[in-house]
Amino acid sequence: MHFNILTLFPELFPGPLGHSITGRALSEQIWSYDARNIRDFASDKHKTVDDVPFGGGAGMVIKPDVVERALLSFPNSGRKIYMSPRGKVLNQHLVQALSRESTLTLLCGRYEGVDQRVLDAHDFEEISIGDYILTGGEMAAHILMDACIRLLDGAVGNANTPIEESFSDGLLEYPHYTRPAQWTDANGISRAVPEVLTSGHHGNVAKWRHNQSLELTQARRPDLLLKKC
Ligand code: SAM
Repeated sequence: MHFNILTLFPELFPGPLGHSITGRALSEQIWSYDARNIRDFASDKHKTVDDVPFGGGAGMVIKPDVVERALLSFPNSGRKIYMSPRGKVLNQHLVQALSRESTLTLLCGRYEGVDQRVLDAHDFEEISIGDYILTGGEMAAHILMDACIRLLDGAVGNANTPIEESFSDGLLEYPHYTRPAQWTDANGISRAVPEVLTSGHHGNVAKWRHNQSLELTQARRPDLLLKKC
């Protein structure tokens, strides 16, 4: 899978994605990226990328012509996404669909955002990572990329892992425990692992985990259960 990234800060890539599972997948060429600096496509000697908004208001807007030249510099842009708080909120279902694309182009805004006309002219979809405002789209792009990369074949060691996780089956994941089976916390309280997990009975373990998933989802995210119906 290939990511084109349009940003004013190309040095932020691969950033956290250059480490751990995503970093290994990058060196194994399971994914690749090409981060281009929008500023390199400015036409004046001051390398201007933004201007004041028509109609007034605070902040600056990234110019459409500069973004367009940067976009057209990629040999293949694939599905084009503007990281934007106005967009469709990213969820696992959308991540699964995006991870099946061979190329994504991610436009990272700054300031007040990007001139609407270049988004319209080149059919950018808008995707948000949640209902809050970041200073720029780069970290939102990291999140989208990380979520996609871990679904690519060969990226995560245990092939079952991405299937069992929260949201994949519309439920939150059950709780995890590891050794020691009995652990005393800093307050002197002794805490045991749920007995069923040490029983060696795979059927009972699976049933317990499913029930835990249902209970957690009911308590924390009942909206997910409604969507499943
Ligand atoms: N004026 C914009 C608004 O109110 O919708 C916010 C602009 S924000 C300060 C600058 C850039 O950060 C945006 O153009 C976008 O690329 C990115 N950004 C901010 N919040 C985001 C979010 N929740 N999801 C995705 N991108 C976000």
